[in-house]
Amino acid sequence: MKKEKVLIIEDELDLLDLLDFNLTRKGFITAGALDGSEGLSKAESFRPDLVILDLMLPGLDGWEVCRRLKQKRKDIKVLMLTAKCMPEDKVKGLETGADDYMTKPFSVKELVIRVEKLLTEKRQKNLHRSVIHELSNRITTLGAYSRLIEGAEDGNTARKYIQSVCRQVDSTEELIHEAGIFLDADLMELKPEPCGLYEVLKIAADAYRELASRKGVTIRIEAEENIEVITDKYAFKQVIFNLAGNAVKYARTSGEVELRATKVDGKILVSIRDNGIGIPAVDLPHVFDQGFRASNVPSTVKGSGFGLYIVKVLCERLGAAMSVKSTVGEGTEFCITLPDSAGD
Ligand code: CA
Repeated sequence: MKKEKVLIIEDELDLLDLLDFNLTRKGFITAGALDGSEGLSKAESFRPDLVILDLMLPGLDGWEVCRRLKQKRKDIKVLMLTAKCMPEDKVKGLETGADDYMTKPFSVKELVIRVEKLLTEKRQKNLHRSVIHELSNRITTLGAYSRLIEGAEDGNTARKYIQSVCRQVDSTEELIHEAGIFLDADLMELKPEPCGLYEVLKIAADAYRELASRKGVTIRIEAEENIEVITDKYAFKQVIFNLAGNAVKYARTSGEVELRATKVDGKILVSIRDNGIGIPAVDLPHVFDQGFRASNVPSTVKGSGFGLYIVKVLCERLGAAMSVKSTVGEGTEFCITLPDSAGD
């Protein structure tokens, strides 16, 4: 269930329909426009991640549309799709800012692969940018603490600042580790295979058992032992690990974390629930954003803000739907719905 948006600017209605059909089937959200001006105004309202752009269009031609698109949003990806197949046409297209160029007639399968590749590049670039931004913020903070330590009047004050330095270093290590996981996970080829749900939940529970017991938190698994799902084991495990780790982290002292899996109408439902601090309603729509941390998380709780973003990206790749329910002071529940044959 990819949520990335593709705008198709193409004046041949049959071709527009064909592209629309194939991209929608692959899980993209699509919109179409039949000429250049309509394409530009749709780009404003629809905010696509990528544009498939014909060159020979009535009114504004594709080159002009590309130039204006890139002028407004450098991060938008443009794939030119055209009958103009001379080398100089291609050069002109790429010089105007197109990220890729395909000539008609073309294979729909190849086009979809190129679209996916361009969007992966875009995600990777975004992640690099935001990790660098995060790292530079943290180094600034570390610098500020170092100067406080230098000027501290006594040992106790200095120790207090050193504790803050240690927390920053821990969360920075976690950020680097999670960015690495994300880059691997986003680039790796998925290999769907039968995967025992109970086994995955148990491995995650075992991994966090020690951390949980130090907080007096109980981890409970509610799942029939024989439920299987066809999915990529590595990616799915990473999703469950991140969610279980979060649940233990935010569970109340002496609280409980429940990992549950059920099969309903051919769909697999997995839920990870804690009875911790909860997430404020105003923060809920942003919990899956890169680098986001809820406003009620105490600064003493370390975290990179990337764990749930990784969960979101992996779920999209696995074709899994995600939802979150939370009440401040009562706890949070993340639910994942996998189709029986997830991960095509
Ligand atoms: Ca045309």
